[in-house]
Amino acid sequence: MSNQIHNIPDFRTLLTKQGYSLVGNHSAVKTCLWLKRSIKGEGACYKSRFYGIKSHCCIQMTPTLLCNQKCIHCWRPTEVKIPAPDKWDSPVEIMGSSIYAQRKLISGFGGSAPREFWMEANNPRHVAISLSGEPTLYPYLPELIDEFTKNDITTFVVTNGTNPEMIKKINPTQLYISLDASDKETYMTVCNPRSPELWEKIKESLFNLYDKDIRTVVRITLIKGVNMFDPEGFAGLIDTAKPDFVEIKAYMHLGFSRGRLSRESMPSHEEVMVFADDIADYLGYRVVDEVEISRVVLLSKSPESLSGQS
Ligand code: SF4
Repeated sequence: MSNQIHNIPDFRTLLTKQGYSLVGNHSAVKTCLWLKRSIKGEGACYKSRFYGIKSHCCIQMTPTLLCNQKCIHCWRPTEVKIPAPDKWDSPVEIMGSSIYAQRKLISGFGGSAPREFWMEANNPRHVAISLSGEPTLYPYLPELIDEFTKNDITTFVVTNGTNPEMIKKINPTQLYISLDASDKETYMTVCNPRSPELWEKIKESLFNLYDKDIRTVVRITLIKGVNMFDPEGFAGLIDTAKPDFVEIKAYMHLGFSRGRLSRESMPSHEEVMVFADDIADYLGYRVVDEVEISRVVLLSKSPESLSGQS
């Protein structure tokens, strides 16, 4: 188990209590609520509906818990400092230990899940590199993506966009940039970045996203009373990336964000829909799908969603 994690008082306990499995020197895996439902045939997450991902075949992981932002809506304990590792684990090690950790995390479902789903879940086909921490801070992210791809595992990467050079280098199945403010002042309030310059980096990343030949998405998390204004400003920024999709979703009052925001900060699905409609109008995109339970709306450049594909 990780040296640096052992050296942080309570950090390991904090995350383990939340269901994280800390793997290798600096990575983590966590099963989500939807995997637990999907493995029993009781539903699937909005990524299943929008992009055809089988939730019980999906590993949710991060190659690093480090982050250069402290977003108020983050579910992780941003208040706890995480030192950089002395040595980075290799992509091969991270992939192997992530699959191992996933199998261990789902081992308890052997008796309750239908056998077919259980077998599928033990052979993950998808990885969401988006758990917690900023994945582009892991220097071998391109090689890690390649490793998963070589093993027939599709990859979704969610980045906060502060590392535009890494955006150029990576080619996952689907690449997301989170955009949580329409202007620098709001960005500083919402994301508490290590440096104000990171706002310019995010704008550069949006430009870089435009050049990618892979499926691209800009994701906005709406926090009522905090960043839920200026749809035109959001649209202007998104337009520089011209992503295939825009996911607009409500902040969810979960994890450690509960100490920073109130339940009232969660917009209703209807409020998300109204805001999404406004952005779509300014951008010239269409609303192609929505999932009420997750309070998320999908906009697309083209009229169709990609449901059924991954
Ligand atoms: S960028 Fe992501 S991991 Fe980092 S603080 Fe924000 S929400 Fe958390």
